[in-house]
Amino acid sequence: MPRDGNRGSGRRESHVFAEIYRIGPKELLVPQTLFDDIGFRFQLDKVFQGILTPLSAAVYDVEAADATLAAHFHVENAAALFLPFTAKIAAGAAIAFLYQSQKRSLTYIHAIKTYDTHSYMTLDPNTRRNLEIVQTIYSNQKKGSLLWVMDKTCTPMGRRLLREWLENPLLDLDKIMERQNAVRDLYEKPLVQDALKDILQQIHDLERIAGRIAFGTASPRDLVSLKVSIGHLPKFLETIGRLNSSLFRQMSEGFDDLRDLYHRIDQAIVEEPPVSPKEGGLVKQGFSREIDELREISSGGKNRILAIEGREREETGIKSLKIGYNKVFGYYIEVSNANKNLVPEHYVRKQTLANGERYYTEELKTYEDKVLGAAERLYQLEYEVFCQIRDYIAANTARIQLMASYIAVADAVFSFAKVALENRYVCPTLHTGSSIEIQRGRHPMVERVGEESFIANDTLLDDGDNRIMVITGPNMAGKSTYMRQTALILLMAQTGSFVPAETAKLALVDRIFTRIGASDDLVGGNSTFMVEMTETAEILRAATARSFIVLDEIGRGTSTFDGLAIAWAVIAHLSAGDVGPKTLFATHYHELTGLEREMPHIKNYAITVREYNGDLIFLRKITPGKAGKSYGIQVAKLAGVPISVVNDARRILKSLEKNQIHFDNGKAKTEEIPALFKEISDDEEEVINEIKNLRPDHLTPIKALSLLAEWQDRLKTKNDEN
Ligand code: ATP
Repeated sequence: MPRDGNRGSGRRESHVFAEIYRIGPKELLVPQTLFDDIGFRFQLDKVFQGILTPLSAAVYDVEAADATLAAHFHVENAAALFLPFTAKIAAGAAIAFLYQSQKRSLTYIHAIKTYDTHSYMTLDPNTRRNLEIVQTIYSNQKKGSLLWVMDKTCTPMGRRLLREWLENPLLDLDKIMERQNAVRDLYEKPLVQDALKDILQQIHDLERIAGRIAFGTASPRDLVSLKVSIGHLPKFLETIGRLNSSLFRQMSEGFDDLRDLYHRIDQAIVEEPPVSPKEGGLVKQGFSREIDELREISSGGKNRILAIEGREREETGIKSLKIGYNKVFGYYIEVSNANKNLVPEHYVRKQTLANGERYYTEELKTYEDKVLGAAERLYQLEYEVFCQIRDYIAANTARIQLMASYIAVADAVFSFAKVALENRYVCPTLHTGSSIEIQRGRHPMVERVGEESFIANDTLLDDGDNRIMVITGPNMAGKSTYMRQTALILLMAQTGSFVPAETAKLALVDRIFTRIGASDDLVGGNSTFMVEMTETAEILRAATARSFIVLDEIGRGTSTFDGLAIAWAVIAHLSAGDVGPKTLFATHYHELTGLEREMPHIKNYAITVREYNGDLIFLRKITPGKAGKSYGIQVAKLAGVPISVVNDARRILKSLEKNQIHFDNGKAKTEEIPALFKEISDDEEEVINEIKNLRPDHLTPIKALSLLAEWQDRLKTKNDEN
């Protein structure tokens, strides 16, 4: 990552940090120079918690990468891999590192895929957090997140892919439509849905099993799980064959039933093998004559030992005599101390115990050798069979991975369709125009977990009068919920999902930005206000006419007038130009509602409440117009602030309101700024009073001039002191 300090590189870096945050890798490999760069480490700390490993700069050399990649992929020249320049260097470094650290075959890495972040909607870490895509803000848990609502998958592959889809909304309309059509296809065919669910539920984690097989760590049980899963593929193919959308058709056409792999496993491996491949018991009877024979000897030998035990008991008259086995001493005859005198002469002592003795006989020794030899050979042969099958499958992992990816896609589409049906979502119409029209939209998570029944709301945004919605309303009224729900509906639509609304006609957006609430970044050394302004700066710099922005309470972290001024200027910036980002702007600065008349593209909206006997009733409905007031004190009362404090606040509010700043055609009359906020010194007040009490008709021109000079002097001195 270049660090030349110019704006372009800064932008690239923030992109890289956003990617690191999105992927959440366990380990990052970086050149030593970057590892030593304090600025880089400082930024990285905010988005990455894994291990940071420095590699020598030599590894990041293009010639070194060429050589590593050509050798690993058995190609003459790494150019055959068609990797972009930077991807080649990164891949070369990663593979060189793996060879060095894993010290084992890396045959399971048989391809390198690159992806282009421009194919996906860029979502910065704040927006991902604010929209609670995969975890909630407050408890960092899946429950309550969008993923939680959308996840009805039946397989681990589907679950991983669904998460990937939600985290990476698409930008290409054709690709979105391809996915959306598949969802609609399944949505409209509940019988196919049920059949697909039954099949998916029986398919194991093929991706992980294929990985373990290729990596050489698979167990015999993995092979059986693979076989069972492959066994369901014909039914899977038949089921997706009942769907007409292009995504499912492509899958049917490229289908591979992996029959050869199924047979390999089925012929050789028993249905319920042990976990370890090295202790026998895993090869089917009839697969190998040699194995069958050895098995007979080894189990026959054990029976023989039981027979010897019975005979010895009889001959010696020692009823408690028993033949045992342990790894160190092999087979032995154990006799308790009480019966020691009955032991015949040909018994040879092997081991003395506290309450008995252990012996062996020639006969026992001979059998032991035969049985153990057979068992050892048997285990060896069984292990060889296992390895042969495993290696055959390992050479075919790419085929398994492809089918695993089909299953993942079918499962994620199934999940979207199922959730759409269960939660009454609609299929959105996406277009490349500029308007966003949502009727009776809902928040996908709040409607599922909220204590009250959810009140649906409309949204209209376009490049005309409705580009910026300035939303007012009391705390707790539902402003954040409304803004987030609009963002989530846009995001869901671009993942190919249906959306929680009655109708939705949505312009494609290139980015969603959110700046919500106050959050400190004290570890990163930033105050609440600094965080707020940094986020705002990034949004204003990066948003395009195709972006969607949620701004919740800009300017709350500083003094009222600073904050108001900043919020005002931000709206002015966003409303400039014929086209611009679509913005939802929630604020408690009621003064900003005056901007609707002053600037183009702005519409005021309020979330309605009713006051009843001094209490608040939240109606949760968004309507054109502005909120009457903030009701902050009523909300404080609702929250349980002591009544004496609430009453005090009411009194102070009344006195403040007397001096309230007013708008006249959207322009603030700054001379009406409340005296409370003015800083006038005693000296200045004295000058003012002198002017007030002056009788000009009693002054000579000379006196007037000298007084003027004196006042100027006194005021100047005061200002200089400041
Ligand atoms: P603040 O200004 O204090 O941030 P707010 O106006 O942004 O408040 P929200 O946080 O959006 O308010 O909403 C408060 C709570 O009200 C939500 O947690 C949710 O439970 C409920 N709520 C919001 N909107 C709706 C709705 N449309 N239908 C039902 N309940 C809602």
